[in-house]
Amino acid sequence: MENKETITGNSLGRKLESCRMCESEELYEFLDLGLMPPADGILSAKEIERGEELLFPLKVAQCQNCGLTQLTYAANPQHLYGEKYKYESSITNTGVKHFLDMADSIRKKLDLSQGSLVVDIGSNVGVLLSGFKRNGMNVLGIDPAPKIAKIANGNGIETWQEFIGPAIAKKIVEKKGLAKVVTCTNVFAHIDDKKGLMKSINAMLDDDGVLIIEAPYFLDLVENMEYDTIYIDHLEYISIRPLISFFEKYGLEIFDVEKKKIHGGTLRIFVGKRGKMAVSHNVGKFLDLEKKGKLYEKETLNAFSAKVKKHKKQFIELLDNLKKDGKKIIGISAPAKGNTLLNYCKISRDHLDYMTEKSLIKIGHYTPGTHIPIVAEKKIYTDKKFPDYGVIFAWNFASEIVRNNQKFLDRGGKFINPIPYPRIMEFPQKEDLFGAKVTKITPDFEDSRGKITDLVNASINHVGLITTEAGAQRGPHYHKQSTQNSYILSGSFEVSLAHKDDLKNMKRIVLKAGEMISIPSFVIHGFKAREKATMIDISQTRGDTGYEADVVRINLEDLGE
Ligand SMILES: [Zn+2]
Repeated sequence: MENKETITGNSLGRKLESCRMCESEELYEFLDLGLMPPADGILSAKEIERGEELLFPLKVAQCQNCGLTQLTYAANPQHLYGEKYKYESSITNTGVKHFLDMADSIRKKLDLSQGSLVVDIGSNVGVLLSGFKRNGMNVLGIDPAPKIAKIANGNGIETWQEFIGPAIAKKIVEKKGLAKVVTCTNVFAHIDDKKGLMKSINAMLDDDGVLIIEAPYFLDLVENMEYDTIYIDHLEYISIRPLISFFEKYGLEIFDVEKKKIHGGTLRIFVGKRGKMAVSHNVGKFLDLEKKGKLYEKETLNAFSAKVKKHKKQFIELLDNLKKDGKKIIGISAPAKGNTLLNYCKISRDHLDYMTEKSLIKIGHYTPGTHIPIVAEKKIYTDKKFPDYGVIFAWNFASEIVRNNQKFLDRGGKFINPIPYPRIMEFPQKEDLFGAKVTKITPDFEDSRGKITDLVNASINHVGLITTEAGAQRGPHYHKQSTQNSYILSGSFEVSLAHKDDLKNMKRIVLKAGEMISIPSFVIHGFKAREKATMIDISQTRGDTGYEADVVRINLEDLGE
């Protein structure tokens, strides 16, 4: 079959015959999520009546040559980003803060002078650009969605309603000059015509200009089961190895990589003209991580695919069982990613009465494929029967959603977090330690020979002896599956504890020799030695994962206020 370089006219899309970045035909398909509507293609009642809904095959493959993970079907962008596109990037506080901080940090890092041109491709309502504008930059947004572009212009961010391409890039240079920075946040991986995109970027970039891409990290997607971030619009799943050879072809090189925690693990990738910028050791660090995570091995991909199938079964079972008990379940937040879960797991109106949403342009519509009504948040409280459970589909904003919906918990509602595995979220009383328990260990048996003390009565698959110098810090991290028991042999620690879904609510206790703390999964713990200290770590794991694979590290500055 002919491998068309670009999608033309009103065609549905194209089946990929070769890798989008290196053109190798060796694509290893490892995941099939079935037929999917566009994730942002919410519908009106009339559209549902008319049966106007397009479905596309959602299958994922990895290139055996360069390692790029990609969808094997590219939908025509005309069907994805036209009138119907309704995602507003300014809707969550976490999102807005991320983009404003991003602008400040880039301005400092690249030492941009006043009046430098910053072009944002797929600029949405202009949040990132407003950050650059605040920093004295000259800004221009490019976004094809008419409603979104109109909001941006209304907010004072000049935005051209266009798909990026060489002709538009030429026009930008004519009207605005060369760009010092071109940004692509959560857009780079959405664009099928990579040649056209790179030609446009190269035409716009000044000689010392920098392209900055933000995209979710495929390594995190695999390790944290974030398969709901796979959807039609999202053509590629970014990792560093394939990008190195890709940019080389266009005379560019990656000179730095930073990792941000938004969207469950996002990479910020800095690309300059080859030889113009000093290359940071971070680039090699990420390549090593990918190698260590066996990211380009079929075994890893197959294991991931098996876990996805298991997840579907568990999620449906959880919801089915609650429905059998007569419970009322709703969806809290209706993000694009929720639609992969809804459609793949075949969740319908029989499970969820409705989905709540803040975004005004989504309210009154229906979810793509599954046709669940999208309503304003206040319906929860005006509804005849108060919902028993709310599924948080925007799990990457779970902390913020829980904080904003304390009222829901107060009235007896419970939250369900579907990722990395479906679970009812437990919120223990504020005064206790999120389910962690401290015990003063006393001997169970004593005679003239000495004492016998039971530390743990459970199956154990890791025991570690750890010494820590005064003032040194261990963690913070949490475990996805293990319960960790730490018994202090000598010295003492200051222990910080928080729940993964509520980082800002942190507790601090002192743990002394002779005491043991049992910490359940998803409870973040950090140990700071008050003096030189020794402890035994005893872990019980429910699965068969090793200790390292079960550990999720947390930045210290993310904890507490
Ligand atoms: Zn390739």
